[in-house]
Amino acid sequence: MTRSASLDIQVSAALRRLDDLATREPGLAEAAAFYRATIPALHDAQLTVPTFFLNTARAREKLESGRPLLLEEDLPLDIDATTSLFLHLCRILENLAIDGNAPRREKRSFLSRRRYAWSKTEENHTSDSQGTAASRASAAMQIRLAVEHYQLDLTEVWAAVAMGDETRLEQAASQQQLDATLLRVVAETSLRPALRAWSQGLYGAVDLNEWRRGQCPICGNSPRLSEIQGKEGKRRLRCLHCGAGWYYQRLRCAFCGRRDYRSLGFVAVAGQEEKYRLQTCNACRGYVKVVVTYDPIPLPFLSVEDLATYDLDEIAAAHGYTSPPKAKTIS
Ligand SMILES: [Zn+2]
Ligand SMILES: [Zn+2]
Repeated sequence: MTRSASLDIQVSAALRRLDDLATREPGLAEAAAFYRATIPALHDAQLTVPTFFLNTARAREKLESGRPLLLEEDLPLDIDATTSLFLHLCRILENLAIDGNAPRREKRSFLSRRRYAWSKTEENHTSDSQGTAASRASAAMQIRLAVEHYQLDLTEVWAAVAMGDETRLEQAASQQQLDATLLRVVAETSLRPALRAWSQGLYGAVDLNEWRRGQCPICGNSPRLSEIQGKEGKRRLRCLHCGAGWYYQRLRCAFCGRRDYRSLGFVAVAGQEEKYRLQTCNACRGYVKVVVTYDPIPLPFLSVEDLATYDLDEIAAAHGYTSPPKAKTIS
């Protein structure tokens, strides 16, 4: 396996940034530990993903009709490799509770906060962070054992996740009495190397500039971050799943598409105004986090930036905004 030196440098830099974050913000230490383990694993897995090609005419036709490129395609997912990665991610979660290097004196750890994807498992558990880490480890182990014992069909789970079918996912989880939210998170994460490899493969071959929607033009997911780039201040939305970036009007909601300035709001944390902001929409109650950056955020840094801007998620949640919005209003 040949590793790209520049990507290796990016991975190393992302890990250093995670260490800095964990030191400065003890409440994020547990999440930082998770990403510290997963970023290299996802990067390595991406190098072995089978290639996917879409001919130019079909790609253009799909984009013109508003259909993301990977949808409706027979994708060459390597089931064995993706299953191995899925099991590895479960073990990482199991070991977080054992390693426990993260400071635990904070009132509630990052991973136990309700709003973040990782935290939804905690709603029925103790607020003590050590206890929640142990609960999560136990839930991750149950998921891993269900796969290893052939009780859980991962292809069914991946299909549900890819189609955003929560009911189908919850059914698969409840049949084995598994934590549905944790199952979704691990399944989504295990698909990322494939989505990112296919996305990068399509990137050079397809012109995404005609895409005017908030939804990701490659995989169809909602954007999580929004970059304001360069001297011109152009805006690009970024998908955390496949890593794609696409231009989108600055003063327009990424979810419902409204351009009414009275609906849109900007919020910043004191001292971070130049780098990070929150764009909210009062019409659909959605939000995206805005990162001011000269260059596009490199793939290994996407989760790191998402974590670094956790303050903004908390502010958004406190004011009743969600990302994506609860109503299916994506444009
Ligand atoms: Zn995407
Ligand atoms: Zn909106």
